[in-house]
Amino acid sequence: MCRHLAYLGPPVRLRALLYDPPYSLLRQSWAPRDMRGGGTINADGFGVGWYPGEGDPVRYRRAQPLWGDSTLPELAAVTVTGAVLAAVRSATVGMPVQEGAAAPFAEGRWLFSHNGVVRGWPDAVVPLAADLPVRDLLTLDAPTDSALLWALVRHRLRAGADPAVAVAETVAAVATAAPGSRLNLLLTDGRTVVASAAGHALSVRTAGDSVLLASEPLDDDPDWRPVPEGQLVVATRAGVRTRALAGG
Ligand code: GLN
Repeated sequence: MCRHLAYLGPPVRLRALLYDPPYSLLRQSWAPRDMRGGGTINADGFGVGWYPGEGDPVRYRRAQPLWGDSTLPELAAVTVTGAVLAAVRSATVGMPVQEGAAAPFAEGRWLFSHNGVVRGWPDAVVPLAADLPVRDLLTLDAPTDSALLWALVRHRLRAGADPAVAVAETVAAVATAAPGSRLNLLLTDGRTVVASAAGHALSVRTAGDSVLLASEPLDDDPDWRPVPEGQLVVATRAGVRTRALAGG
């Protein structure tokens, strides 16, 4: 159910993350190795956000399979960047296939992705939605669980919360309101990546001053480490810290 990745490090071509590795995001869109909770392929859209040196990230998203897009391969061959968040989507049954539902969701420097599902949608999250300004609910990127999760995280970021706290609090609140949900979140500002492992797989690989987090390892490099269930990862080019999600 959806696959996502985030990279921080020396500049690389986008294609080195999206297309070239043996288990690239492209490969994961039609032959993921570790799907859970239903779904077999990730064909309901994709998106990539990257940081062009200084300034806010650029996004390219479509509501179609990654393998069917003939523009991105050319773009990915010439675009060089040191910070990326990308995802391929398998829409949860009942949720619409539209560009606005494809990660990354974005505001300012922030990029966000959700791999998973909110159980009991939408009734289970009514109490959480009530905490948001009505304006945020009326301007959701899409009528999906992932878009609401982004609104919940963004609300905390706007209030000045530390990104790790924003992610941990959102996971805790949704897990309480909607037990059994799968809540692998990925958030970056291009300098730090925060990721939760809550219901789906997540792996991390550090090499030199780069870090790569992904739902599935992109290759057979023995340096990939699985992130244990229930952990929160905070990664920068300088290193990776992991702690229990419940620690908020
Ligand atoms: N539930 C989300 C959606 O439908 C994410 C799906 C997923 O992780 N496969 O967009």
